[in-house]
Amino acid sequence: MTTASNAHDAPGTVAVWGGEVHPMADRATQVPVVHSVSFGYDDFDDWLAVARGEREGHIYGRNTNPTVDAFEEKVRLMEGAEAVTSASTGMAVISGTLWTLLRPGQRVVSVKDTYGGTSKLFTEFLPEFDIDVQLCDTTDSEAVERAIADGCDLLYLETPTNPTLKIIDLPRLIAAGQAAGAVVVVDNTFATPINQNPIALGADLVVHSATKFLGGHADALGGVVVGRKDLIERIYHYREINGATLHPEAAYLLLRGMKTLHLRVERQQDNAQKVAEFLETHPKVTVVNYPGLPSHPQHEIAKKQMRGFGGMLSFGLEGGLEAVARFFPQLRLSHAAANLGAVETIVGPPSTTSHVECTDEERAELGIPEGLVRYSTGIEDVTDLINDLRQALDAV
Ligand SMILES: *Cc1c(COP(=O)(O)O)cnc(C)c1O
Repeated sequence: MTTASNAHDAPGTVAVWGGEVHPMADRATQVPVVHSVSFGYDDFDDWLAVARGEREGHIYGRNTNPTVDAFEEKVRLMEGAEAVTSASTGMAVISGTLWTLLRPGQRVVSVKDTYGGTSKLFTEFLPEFDIDVQLCDTTDSEAVERAIADGCDLLYLETPTNPTLKIIDLPRLIAAGQAAGAVVVVDNTFATPINQNPIALGADLVVHSATKFLGGHADALGGVVVGRKDLIERIYHYREINGATLHPEAAYLLLRGMKTLHLRVERQQDNAQKVAEFLETHPKVTVVNYPGLPSHPQHEIAKKQMRGFGGMLSFGLEGGLEAVARFFPQLRLSHAAANLGAVETIVGPPSTTSHVECTDEERAELGIPEGLVRYSTGIEDVTDLINDLRQALDAV
């Protein structure tokens, strides 16, 4: 058995070949989708050895599955991590990670702009178990460092943020977390391993909503976490018991999507840059948030820690939420939907997408304007996208 790709291959090569162990069953060239829930053994000693972890193999689908393994391995190689495990959704991975690693009386330091679901864990669920969560202003590195210095068991970062595309100084804050002895977790969903590898910057764990860019086709939910082996083993152990297992069919769709990750992300960020530059000059647009614009407040930090600026941007419309409501139906080339990172362009306001779980007051507190449009740039021809935006803006 040989794995086609190794750690020395460039990301585009790993995206295509990583995690694919040959020969596969019946000499298939593509990873088979193994639906079987259980795996049978003629030899009792063999079975026992697998159950004891002395031999590789599968026993029951809630624990492990060969299709899921192949997907996980592709992500592990792309992030340059020691170990990997997955779960049914991004939130299953994030909540599983936090429930596994945290104990009553411990303290989490994070930022105000984490993904809406993650933010709910911090503000609603973890405090009920006597876990102290300190949420700092997202771009105030000094405030985060001060909070870490006051005690920190787990530092949770996410950059670029959703939906305002703020950038966190990863090398600086990861170092601060490490110095305090905290476990450092980074949500790398927006950047993707094509643009940013937090493990290489010292993070202990990296989480992804694979539902987004990794899968890239808006047809499968999944989550994946990579990083330190000792931590991943514990997260996996909790996952096999809580049962939020990634389905083999979803694992296959995500794995197949990942084979074009590098091509999609390159195209999406080329498009996003041009769309952002167009929007910035439009009189009806009040603000454009895109880390690739020199006007972005953390553009220099983004340039240092990212290889590309990604496919996500957001912008404000003159006239607020009412203008947004009139603008969406005018767009021809986009889904108005609560998703991102797909081949098609997707638009949505934060109130129905990233921060659907939050109240109006909570969104205001987080500094998310109601008149904001989140724009997940697809792989379409950029001239068509810009023309579509222009006619829709004209019609508002
Ligand atoms: C969507 C998303 C999540 C949650 O992932 P699901 O697969 O929807 O559970 C977490 N983090 C970020 C940045 C996301 O965009």
